[in-house]
Amino acid sequence: MRKLFLTTCFLAVQCTVFADQQLVKLRTEQDINAHISKMTLEEKVGQMTELAIDVLGHWEGENFVLDNDKLERALIKYKVGSILNAPGPVAQTPEYWYKTISTINDYSIRSCGIPCVYGLDQNHGTTYTLGGTLFPQNINLGASFNPDLALKAATITAYETRASNCPWTYSPTVDLSRDPRWPRVWENFGEDCLVNAVMGKTMIEGFQGKEKNLDRNHIGTSVKHFMAYGIARTGKDRTPSYVPEFELREKHFAPFKACVEAGATSVMVNSGSVNGTPMHINAKYLTQWLKEETGWDGMLVTDWADIDNLWKREMVAANKKDAICMAINAGIDMTMEPYDLSFCDLLMELVREGRVSMERIDDAVRRILRMKMRMGLFERPNTNPKDYPEFGSAAHRKAALDAAVETMVLLKNQNSTLPLQQGKNILVTGPNANSMRCLNGGWSYTWQGKDADKYASAKNTILEAMQQRFGKANIIYEAGVTYNNDGQYWEENEPQIAKAVAAAQKADIILACIGENSYAETPGNLDDLALSANQRQLVKELAATGKPVILIINGGRPRLISDIEPLAAAVVDILLPGNEGGDALARLLAGDENFSGRMPYTYPRHSASLTTYDYRVSEETGTMEGVYDYNAQVNVQWPFGFGLSYTTFDYSNLRVDKPEFHNGDVLTVSIDVKNTGNRVGKESVLLFSRDMVASIVPESRRLRAFQKIELKPGQQQTVSFRLPASDLAFVGTDGLWHLEPGVFKLQIGNQYCEVNCVAK
Ligand code: BGC
Repeated sequence: MRKLFLTTCFLAVQCTVFADQQLVKLRTEQDINAHISKMTLEEKVGQMTELAIDVLGHWEGENFVLDNDKLERALIKYKVGSILNAPGPVAQTPEYWYKTISTINDYSIRSCGIPCVYGLDQNHGTTYTLGGTLFPQNINLGASFNPDLALKAATITAYETRASNCPWTYSPTVDLSRDPRWPRVWENFGEDCLVNAVMGKTMIEGFQGKEKNLDRNHIGTSVKHFMAYGIARTGKDRTPSYVPEFELREKHFAPFKACVEAGATSVMVNSGSVNGTPMHINAKYLTQWLKEETGWDGMLVTDWADIDNLWKREMVAANKKDAICMAINAGIDMTMEPYDLSFCDLLMELVREGRVSMERIDDAVRRILRMKMRMGLFERPNTNPKDYPEFGSAAHRKAALDAAVETMVLLKNQNSTLPLQQGKNILVTGPNANSMRCLNGGWSYTWQGKDADKYASAKNTILEAMQQRFGKANIIYEAGVTYNNDGQYWEENEPQIAKAVAAAQKADIILACIGENSYAETPGNLDDLALSANQRQLVKELAATGKPVILIINGGRPRLISDIEPLAAAVVDILLPGNEGGDALARLLAGDENFSGRMPYTYPRHSASLTTYDYRVSEETGTMEGVYDYNAQVNVQWPFGFGLSYTTFDYSNLRVDKPEFHNGDVLTVSIDVKNTGNRVGKESVLLFSRDMVASIVPESRRLRAFQKIELKPGQQQTVSFRLPASDLAFVGTDGLWHLEPGVFKLQIGNQYCEVNCVAK
């Protein structure tokens, strides 16, 4: 490490001394236009190129060292405008990032006066910066139904990312998790488009701040992955999706629209194809829907190597040059190459041959320079960790702990098994019991999150947190099943179930911590949605002891547990709660805190019954007399929005200010909520609607608004939602929004009421 510092310091000094160019100052749109008119084609194409840091250096033992020759070639000769990723990828200290990115910036400024924009996947906190704060993953924030937590997490992540001299993150992810098989379910806020839209735009505010031009505590965002990435027909990563256009418009586009309208500096494109066309060449969606319809002036970046994928994987182009031509003409502004400079030469050829217009190039460069300007890079190309004293502070840790507490979901609690009584002997078992890797999931220090136990050794696993909270003497540990951490994420070692069963004899209660090991993207593809056979066998044999079993589910997507759930006295789904997850869980199990999370997705019961809460009503049909006994059923383990508490809430008096309404009206929907138990509790109040008759098969329910409140025992509060009538509209097969006359049913908790839309 020390050697790297010396090397990078030396290079930085050398570049500053020999700089041929001054930092250009672009403060306004006029400045940008004036500058573009002076730029060479080479410079413009360079701005449109993004490379991985790996191509700028080499490894010396454990240290990644920048090479002068490689820096010269990429940044001076080719004038590449953006670099991404951690070398390796391995997490680095803020000081490492400061030196490295400063050096890169010195080269960029020397080359053409324009600083480089460096991007990192700081996906749930400072993924790639050691010593920073790791929050719960986005799927947990979705489960909290509390946008304030997302705001805080993004604000702190922005600060700590600037402390790493990095101005840009590839976040937030607002794909919809509508297929439980997909390995990226946990990177976004769940299956619903409204939750993703609200959380996504709130995170934009946290990352970027309220102003268009970012200050030194805020960073640019790249909302991803535009769009319909999460519902591939195969359930596997980066494979084709087929989605009717009305659903694309109504659901998948909605969170991206919300984020760009909130001023997101950039958007990253879905790697796969939708309805047969790779998203990277879909001019209709990239340019017409995303840029033109919304008036968005931000920048579109490809995902990893996705121009190459057009000809190497998707087979829609014969060669790289054609692929570049198609993607740039469709609206791509920057390519995440990430290793190859041929993009620059080929794009210049395409412009000279007239296959890509100079107007398109100028539009792309204008968007890139505008993003750099908004990030403040022309005023302040670097930010120094010494100016960020709160990096990794106790206050930031507390924010991550509070967030984790609000994101865990109590799914079952027979006979008030929880909270656990003090002084009981607890067997802590299962492969997820003693693992920081499992608590964090992927994008944690490294891409696959494999080394979290090394990097987060100071944090508490579930076992350690339970020992601290309940006393070491009361905790017995026997894993029974363990993961093979050197293998693929699903590999387990030879199970030791008999040992766990023997240990259970000394216990009063069993905490079985089950789920998944960490993974990210394609390596996380799976063939079977069921929880591993070993883990289910462990739970079955432990339950056979007659001791009460509490299941703690810890993983990034819902793995089927329908055969073991009936054996459990209580079930908690902690999803991927991050570094503070162990402590948060121990506090909840002890009753120091109350549960308030709710399922951010539908938890399926059977492998052939996969659905989402907003299924079309005819998925649930009764007997069709005289035809045949047709009884399609929606039978899930736990529905979207489900979650218990240590207290109880009573809902009453659901009312709407207008029983009849027209298009253009705004309804006020109110409900009284009372805490009828004896504990303080937070409650997410969810407003659903159902269109009773529509010209396309209506959905069972749609979430229209949500609000989280806190009530003391006995306290009652009226919650009111402002519901524009247009929110009840749907997109028809003609691609247009329709609000049809007729009855809508509104639902909050167990309360229902009807409103009638009348034609004007
Ligand atoms: C992922 C993106 C990520 C990018 C850069 C890709 O493989 O799909 O989510 O932002 O890599 O690391």
